[in-house]
Amino acid sequence: MPDTRYIFVTGGVASSLGKGIISASLAKLLQSRGYKVTIQKLDPYLNVDPGTLNPYEHGECYVTEDGAETDLDLGHYERFLNVPTSQANNVTTGRIYQNVINKERKGDYLGKTVQIIPHITDEIKRNIKLLGTKHKFDVVITEIGGTVGDIESLPYVEAVRQLKWELGSRALVIHLTLVPFLNASGELKTKPTQHSVKTLLEAGVQPDVLVLRTEHDLGPDIRKKVALFCNVNPRAVIQSIDVSTIYEVPVKMQEEGLDEICLEKLELPVDKAPDLKKWKNFLTKMKGAEKTVTIGIVGKYVELADAYKSIIEALIHAATYHDRKAKIKLIHSEEINDETAAEKLAGLDAVLVAPGFGNRGIEGKLEAVRYARENNMIFLGICLGMQCAVIEYARNVINLEKANSTEMDHSTKFPVIDLMEDQKNVTDMGGTMRLGAYECELKEGSNAYEAFEGKTTHERHRHRYEFNNDFLTQFEENGMLATGTNPDTGLAEIVEIPALKWFVGVQFHPEYSSTVLKPHPIFMSFVNAAINK
Ligand code: GLN
Repeated sequence: MPDTRYIFVTGGVASSLGKGIISASLAKLLQSRGYKVTIQKLDPYLNVDPGTLNPYEHGECYVTEDGAETDLDLGHYERFLNVPTSQANNVTTGRIYQNVINKERKGDYLGKTVQIIPHITDEIKRNIKLLGTKHKFDVVITEIGGTVGDIESLPYVEAVRQLKWELGSRALVIHLTLVPFLNASGELKTKPTQHSVKTLLEAGVQPDVLVLRTEHDLGPDIRKKVALFCNVNPRAVIQSIDVSTIYEVPVKMQEEGLDEICLEKLELPVDKAPDLKKWKNFLTKMKGAEKTVTIGIVGKYVELADAYKSIIEALIHAATYHDRKAKIKLIHSEEINDETAAEKLAGLDAVLVAPGFGNRGIEGKLEAVRYARENNMIFLGICLGMQCAVIEYARNVINLEKANSTEMDHSTKFPVIDLMEDQKNVTDMGGTMRLGAYECELKEGSNAYEAFEGKTTHERHRHRYEFNNDFLTQFEENGMLATGTNPDTGLAEIVEIPALKWFVGVQFHPEYSSTVLKPHPIFMSFVNAAINK
């Protein structure tokens, strides 16, 4: 296809309406019709990337193969599309300004006054177009973070206005709003949508398609009314009703004709229907599962499930392929100690100790590992969770008293987890960890080897500390083996205790690369062990 089409998704009325899921669903439908599609998220905050954000503020930080620390919506994009994203798929105001200011310092604008319009908006436009021009996608869906009317979003909406003008029928705008239901009067209210579209119009942007989030069926009258007040075709008023799983949204959007109306507006053929067979098979399996598998996630951010978004989704994928409903219990690591561990981990089929940073809750994680190990529970430790498994083994099996990670205790006598050599001179916080995909070779006969069917794998990372190989022989002599290793550095990527049923710790993050159509082998093997224990 010669010319990339650009779809912009803006939001109104309230945040958290699910722009990411709508964008991913539309992308899925277009991809299923044979288009090469990608999704991009523009975030209006000043952090250069979300890597420095506390998960309580913004949920999980998602890491791409090329090592970008990104918004968790990119996880949805990959889970839906089964295509990797990259740094170019997530751009923040911070990055835009940083680029412009760097150019200014280099003298690129010499003599000119550098301004929000045109310089910031041009940089936004350049980043939007990059995916089409450099990466050659047929359709680029750009999700604008925040809600229209926010001061922060203004330059983005202005960039959209300019692009719509420049690109003509190659661009379209979808606006996502909320239609609240008033219990007292038993009515659905469209006024917030009308106001939100008005705000968009004030910025010079006429939306082409409206997607209305609602808890109740809208019916033809409401659609007609919204169409009339907002200058859109009634067919372009799409209802997005609440569903039990996000993976049902593409099917609902197809029923509503969202993909068709977009293709028509972009002057692309609407001949063949999207092929959603595999996707629907997954949904049928998911909904049909009667038995459950109960997994406990031990972490310190459990008040906010978004902090463990990819882990939860990866467990759902793996459980579905095992014809099980994933019942996930989030367990606060600060509430676990030697007295409460048995009660907190009771009734679980398996325990997962989550990634994380810093000291808070660490003793609870170590207790959870101890309890799981001593009771031969099915166990998976991810990143910090793997490091905890190593520390716990050092302390309680190898008897290395007060063994620790130097992240938690600088002066420990037994630094079984230690700062990576190339991290020692790092002082900046943003984008400086070991990030992105690295190779991992597997040891024959291990659970990992079986999970990956012996194939070397590439897995994504986000950490500063590593297993200290000075202790490797001691660990191996005492029954904890390194079963996955980076071939270039010798870094231990996976540890296992072969004497137990299934006890695996991974330094990498398998959760980032589990998708609906390609569940991750480690999660598949973990869930399988949990079911067959
Ligand atoms: N804090 C640990 C490290 O930096 C683990 C990081 C993580 O769990 N993502 O190595």
